Amino acid sequence: MKAQPKASHYINGRFVDDEQGAPVEVIYPATGEVIARLHAATPNIVELAVEAARAAQDGWARLRPAERGRILRRAADILHARNEELARLETLDTGKPLQETTVADPASAAEALEFFGGVVAGFHGDYVDFGGGPFGYTRREPLGVCVGIGAWNYPIQGAGWKSAPALAMGNAMVFKPSENTPLSALALAEIYTEAGLPDGLFNVVQGFGDVGAALASHPEVAKVSLTGSVPTGRKVLALAGSQMKHATMELGGKSPLIVFDDADVENAVGGAMLANFYSTGQVCSNGTRVFVQRGIYERFMDRLTQRTAKIRIGDPLDPATQMGPLVSKAQHEKVTGYIGIGRDEGATVHYGGGVPQLQGFEGGFFVEPTIFTDVRDDMRIAREEIFGPVMSVLSFTGEDEVVERANDTEFGLSAGVFSRDLSRAHRVVAELKAGSCWINHYNLAPLELPFGGYKQSGIGRENSLAALAHYSQLKSVYVETGNVISPY
Ligand code: NAD
Repeated sequence: MKAQPKASHYINGRFVDDEQGAPVEVIYPATGEVIARLHAATPNIVELAVEAARAAQDGWARLRPAERGRILRRAADILHARNEELARLETLDTGKPLQETTVADPASAAEALEFFGGVVAGFHGDYVDFGGGPFGYTRREPLGVCVGIGAWNYPIQGAGWKSAPALAMGNAMVFKPSENTPLSALALAEIYTEAGLPDGLFNVVQGFGDVGAALASHPEVAKVSLTGSVPTGRKVLALAGSQMKHATMELGGKSPLIVFDDADVENAVGGAMLANFYSTGQVCSNGTRVFVQRGIYERFMDRLTQRTAKIRIGDPLDPATQMGPLVSKAQHEKVTGYIGIGRDEGATVHYGGGVPQLQGFEGGFFVEPTIFTDVRDDMRIAREEIFGPVMSVLSFTGEDEVVERANDTEFGLSAGVFSRDLSRAHRVVAELKAGSCWINHYNLAPLELPFGGYKQSGIGRENSLAALAHYSQLKSVYVETGNVISPY
């Protein structure tokens, strides 16, 4: 299996390489085989990319927003047309099953380009009347060169979610994918060029954390948008802060999902499974602490166990496969390590907990969907982000109790509530300290709604008009129509 791109980086509308850069091996997580060999960006490549973005940005910002939007929407059409091919590339890069990447990854990137390409023409400043003549107005102006740094779980979606609002607002972007999944951002860059995006506006450079840090601290860069873990977020935010750069941080979580007695059991079980097993559990907003009220506990566990046992795990390229491997050997070690920690802490492995033996995929990074019961709130598996298909089920009695326990975390990315009593569902959601919440569903992220975290889970928002605000700055203009009244 090979997925070698033409070169490592994409700068100023073309592929470039610098073989002096540290090697980056791209590994197919289902087999462990190397499918591409790239090089991390050298300081020279970083300079080339930032300079290309800087040189292109001004002319782009002067276009009518509707004209910028048209190019983004053309790129969205190409993404849709190449969905199959891009889904396969994303599957090779991430190990996520084709069943997911065909509907979720390039499609979500395309939706971001469509959404921001459309709404930007209607996103303007305000007019302020001061009475009797003078007035004021605000202008939404681009920031300049923006840096996007991606995680490995949704690579092309992340590149689309960051570049679409940035470009729509008249910025240029230098995007660094995760070193684990460098391929699909290069495909997106080619598609932007094909759609007519002028050279230099979307550049891709590869590399590890040091390349991300070099970009985040580059003096020509006005904004950094990171998707990653909380420890990385702290470092990148500090770098941005030291130079007063704008920053959006989409970080990790340990989100609660609360199932009340009156919930529809099938829907609640489906929601809990989506909240833990989709993308092999590698979703930042996952509801990994599932609080189930005592009256429904037995029925919930019965159906959860039966439905989890039917999950088809295996070859990600087989359209029938529902769960693929984890992204890397390191992530596999981390997740299996946490399963061991849960056992040692005294939690019960109710389901799974092992590494499946799959013929032909012996070198892959698979782990079974795992359900822990007898979990206490203070256990590490209930407090730390695992980022794998590991669900902790906890029981509760009352509403106030569960709200307090749900909020007892340093994170605040997401939360979910299942109940047929909608008054209660809205009341509880209002109390939950989390940025993205669901009532009677879990893990949907439509472009129209802001996405982002409270507390340690981040600052700023992606998606919706909020993202356009985060990729722009406001200029206030006061206009006098009479004489200047001056005491001098
Ligand atoms: P990570 O923090 O290890 O890496 C994220 C990105 O940051 C990578 O591109 C990496 O190369 C880069 N990086 C690492 N150190 C850096 C530094 N010092 N300076 C600049 N860049 C640096 O995260 P990951 O393992 O790729 O992704 C998993 C994490 O991302 C999880 O914590 C998950 O919850 C989070 N995540 C959050 C969201 C969200 O929208 N909130 C979405 C997906 C993933």
